[in-house]
Amino acid sequence: MDVNYRNPKKYKTAKYPIRQPRYLTWLIQMLSKMMLIGKEHKVEKFNMEGLKPPYLLLSNHMSFVDFEMVSLGTYPHRVNNVVNIDGFYMRAWLLEWIGAICTRKFTTDLHLVKSIRKVLERGDVLCMYPEARYSPAGTLSYLPESLGMLVKKCKVPVVVAVHHGNYLHSPFWNFRKKRKVPLYTTFTKIWDPEDIENLSVEEINAGLKSALSYDDYKYQKDNGILITEPYRAEGLNKILYQCPNCKTEHKMSSSGAEIFCEECGKRWYMNEDGSLAAKDGNTEFSHIPDWFEWEREQVRAEVESGNYHFEDDVEVYSLPRCYKYHPLGFAKLTHDPEQGFILTGHYRGKDYRIQRTPLQTNSLHVEYDFLRIKPFDLVDISTENDSFYCYTSKKDVITKLAFATEEIYRINLEKKRKNPQ
Ligand SMILES: [Zn+2]
Repeated sequence: MDVNYRNPKKYKTAKYPIRQPRYLTWLIQMLSKMMLIGKEHKVEKFNMEGLKPPYLLLSNHMSFVDFEMVSLGTYPHRVNNVVNIDGFYMRAWLLEWIGAICTRKFTTDLHLVKSIRKVLERGDVLCMYPEARYSPAGTLSYLPESLGMLVKKCKVPVVVAVHHGNYLHSPFWNFRKKRKVPLYTTFTKIWDPEDIENLSVEEINAGLKSALSYDDYKYQKDNGILITEPYRAEGLNKILYQCPNCKTEHKMSSSGAEIFCEECGKRWYMNEDGSLAAKDGNTEFSHIPDWFEWEREQVRAEVESGNYHFEDDVEVYSLPRCYKYHPLGFAKLTHDPEQGFILTGHYRGKDYRIQRTPLQTNSLHVEYDFLRIKPFDLVDISTENDSFYCYTSKKDVITKLAFATEEIYRINLEKKRKNPQ
């Protein structure tokens, strides 16, 4: 049951991007340079001598700075970016003008592949951020399996851009407060079309995973980078939502350089080198990504034992076109391993029900303090032609929802592979 909009028209994502005009390629590079003034940054290229477009550029994703670093590394070549629909909000004309390709996150967008191939046929660079959201813990997020298939189909060289420091500079869970960190990006050509011909889709996926792997906290330690900002742990409870001491969920808090559990009172101090140290001397995880992955394991166990279920009253804003967020009021959001996500609500005199089954969503688009509507946490449940931005009423639940989505997808995929119908 669809939402009863006054104007049922949706933004058409199924269209080809324009070819980026040369002066815009130049202008974007100039603006990127300006934005980077005062920030220590460096771009290095490997195995890229003589490489000319077309090529596929796959970049990890940590913050907006990624776009600026990519522009420095790709200039003077034209780049078409794949961008989520909320990036088009209020400025669709601008994004269309620079040749961006609009999609809705974690949906099956059949036209996307056509647009990508069109860009490559025109001899340009196609840039994608396959994690499709900013990294929550400074490490590689979920990569869709369809990526290997895409690489196989495109038959062009593959370049991988890996940014370091962008996450530390502007961590997703507290992106409004920047920290002084040197930014370092590498561009590496990993395959030519001949290499790709000899690789299976599985081998391509494994190769991409290893080429795109990163760990910003390791980068920080290895390079002796100190983050002295006194607010450096503020917001960390958005991703570290479960206490490793008493196992309570969603009762972590943070202030200054500390994160603590409101249930058992345990406190951890975030050192200037990015490591954590428990105040009582018994540190469960000194490396933040280890704590984060431990939480994922807890969620996986909960899903596998059949105990996982989520429900909440959420406040919903939808984005059927990119000009206006429609306030749909409150609705009920549930998530479980059998049904996936179900959003039920009432708008303009009619009920609506939106469902995303486990196999329809391999990962989840979450936003910490989403500024475009109001600065709180939300999850975005997208269908092929609409997006529902759901503000949760419960505290610090969206990281867990993302873990659960990925685990439920994985389990259902394994089931389907064992019993194909
Ligand atoms: Zn605790």
